[in-house]
Amino acid sequence: MNDIKVLFTEEQIQKRVKEIADELNELYKGEEIYAVCVLKGAVMFAVDLVKNLHIPLKLEFIRLSSYNGGTKSSGRVNAVDISLPDLNDKNVLIIEDIVDTGLTAKFLLDFIKTNFHTKSTKFCSLLDKKITRKTDIEPDYYGFDIDDKFVVGYGLDDDGYYRNLKFIGYKE
Ligand code: 5GP
Repeated sequence: MNDIKVLFTEEQIQKRVKEIADELNELYKGEEIYAVCVLKGAVMFAVDLVKNLHIPLKLEFIRLSSYNGGTKSSGRVNAVDISLPDLNDKNVLIIEDIVDTGLTAKFLLDFIKTNFHTKSTKFCSLLDKKITRKTDIEPDYYGFDIDDKFVVGYGLDDDGYYRNLKFIGYKE
């Protein structure tokens, strides 16, 4: 792990997660939501975020992938498992690890729009890599802006490794 340079410490991440949760608690006051965690990368963020949400919620998991082992988006989104309950008339909060090209976010938002008439749909991502965007997608909420670096840790992997790091970093 010594080859990983820290970008955001555990303390910075936890502080930011609580700030986003505060905003969401305000947004959804008096409402119920379905929180949809996009596996595998968003797992740590989703868990910490929902622990700080004080509203009635159900947590769902779906699995998508757009990377095929390398460190660049393949440009194609695979729906590995996208079984969801009936989201008609529900408030849906999608929880992602990072918006890079935006293709995954676009795929998911289109999927939800095509299949359900939700009460509301919000997209919340821990990281926003605006510089590599290839779509007009912007997350409604995000934790940190990052440059064009391949980051790992706190759920994000490199060939399956590093998801367990408490911080987010990159290889130099
Ligand atoms: P997009 O479809 O926006 O190009 O990419 C979204 C997915 O690509 C993310 O959910 C994430 O799994 C993966 N991804 C994009 N950038 C990075 C990165 O810097 N590090 C890691 N580990 N995964 C990334």
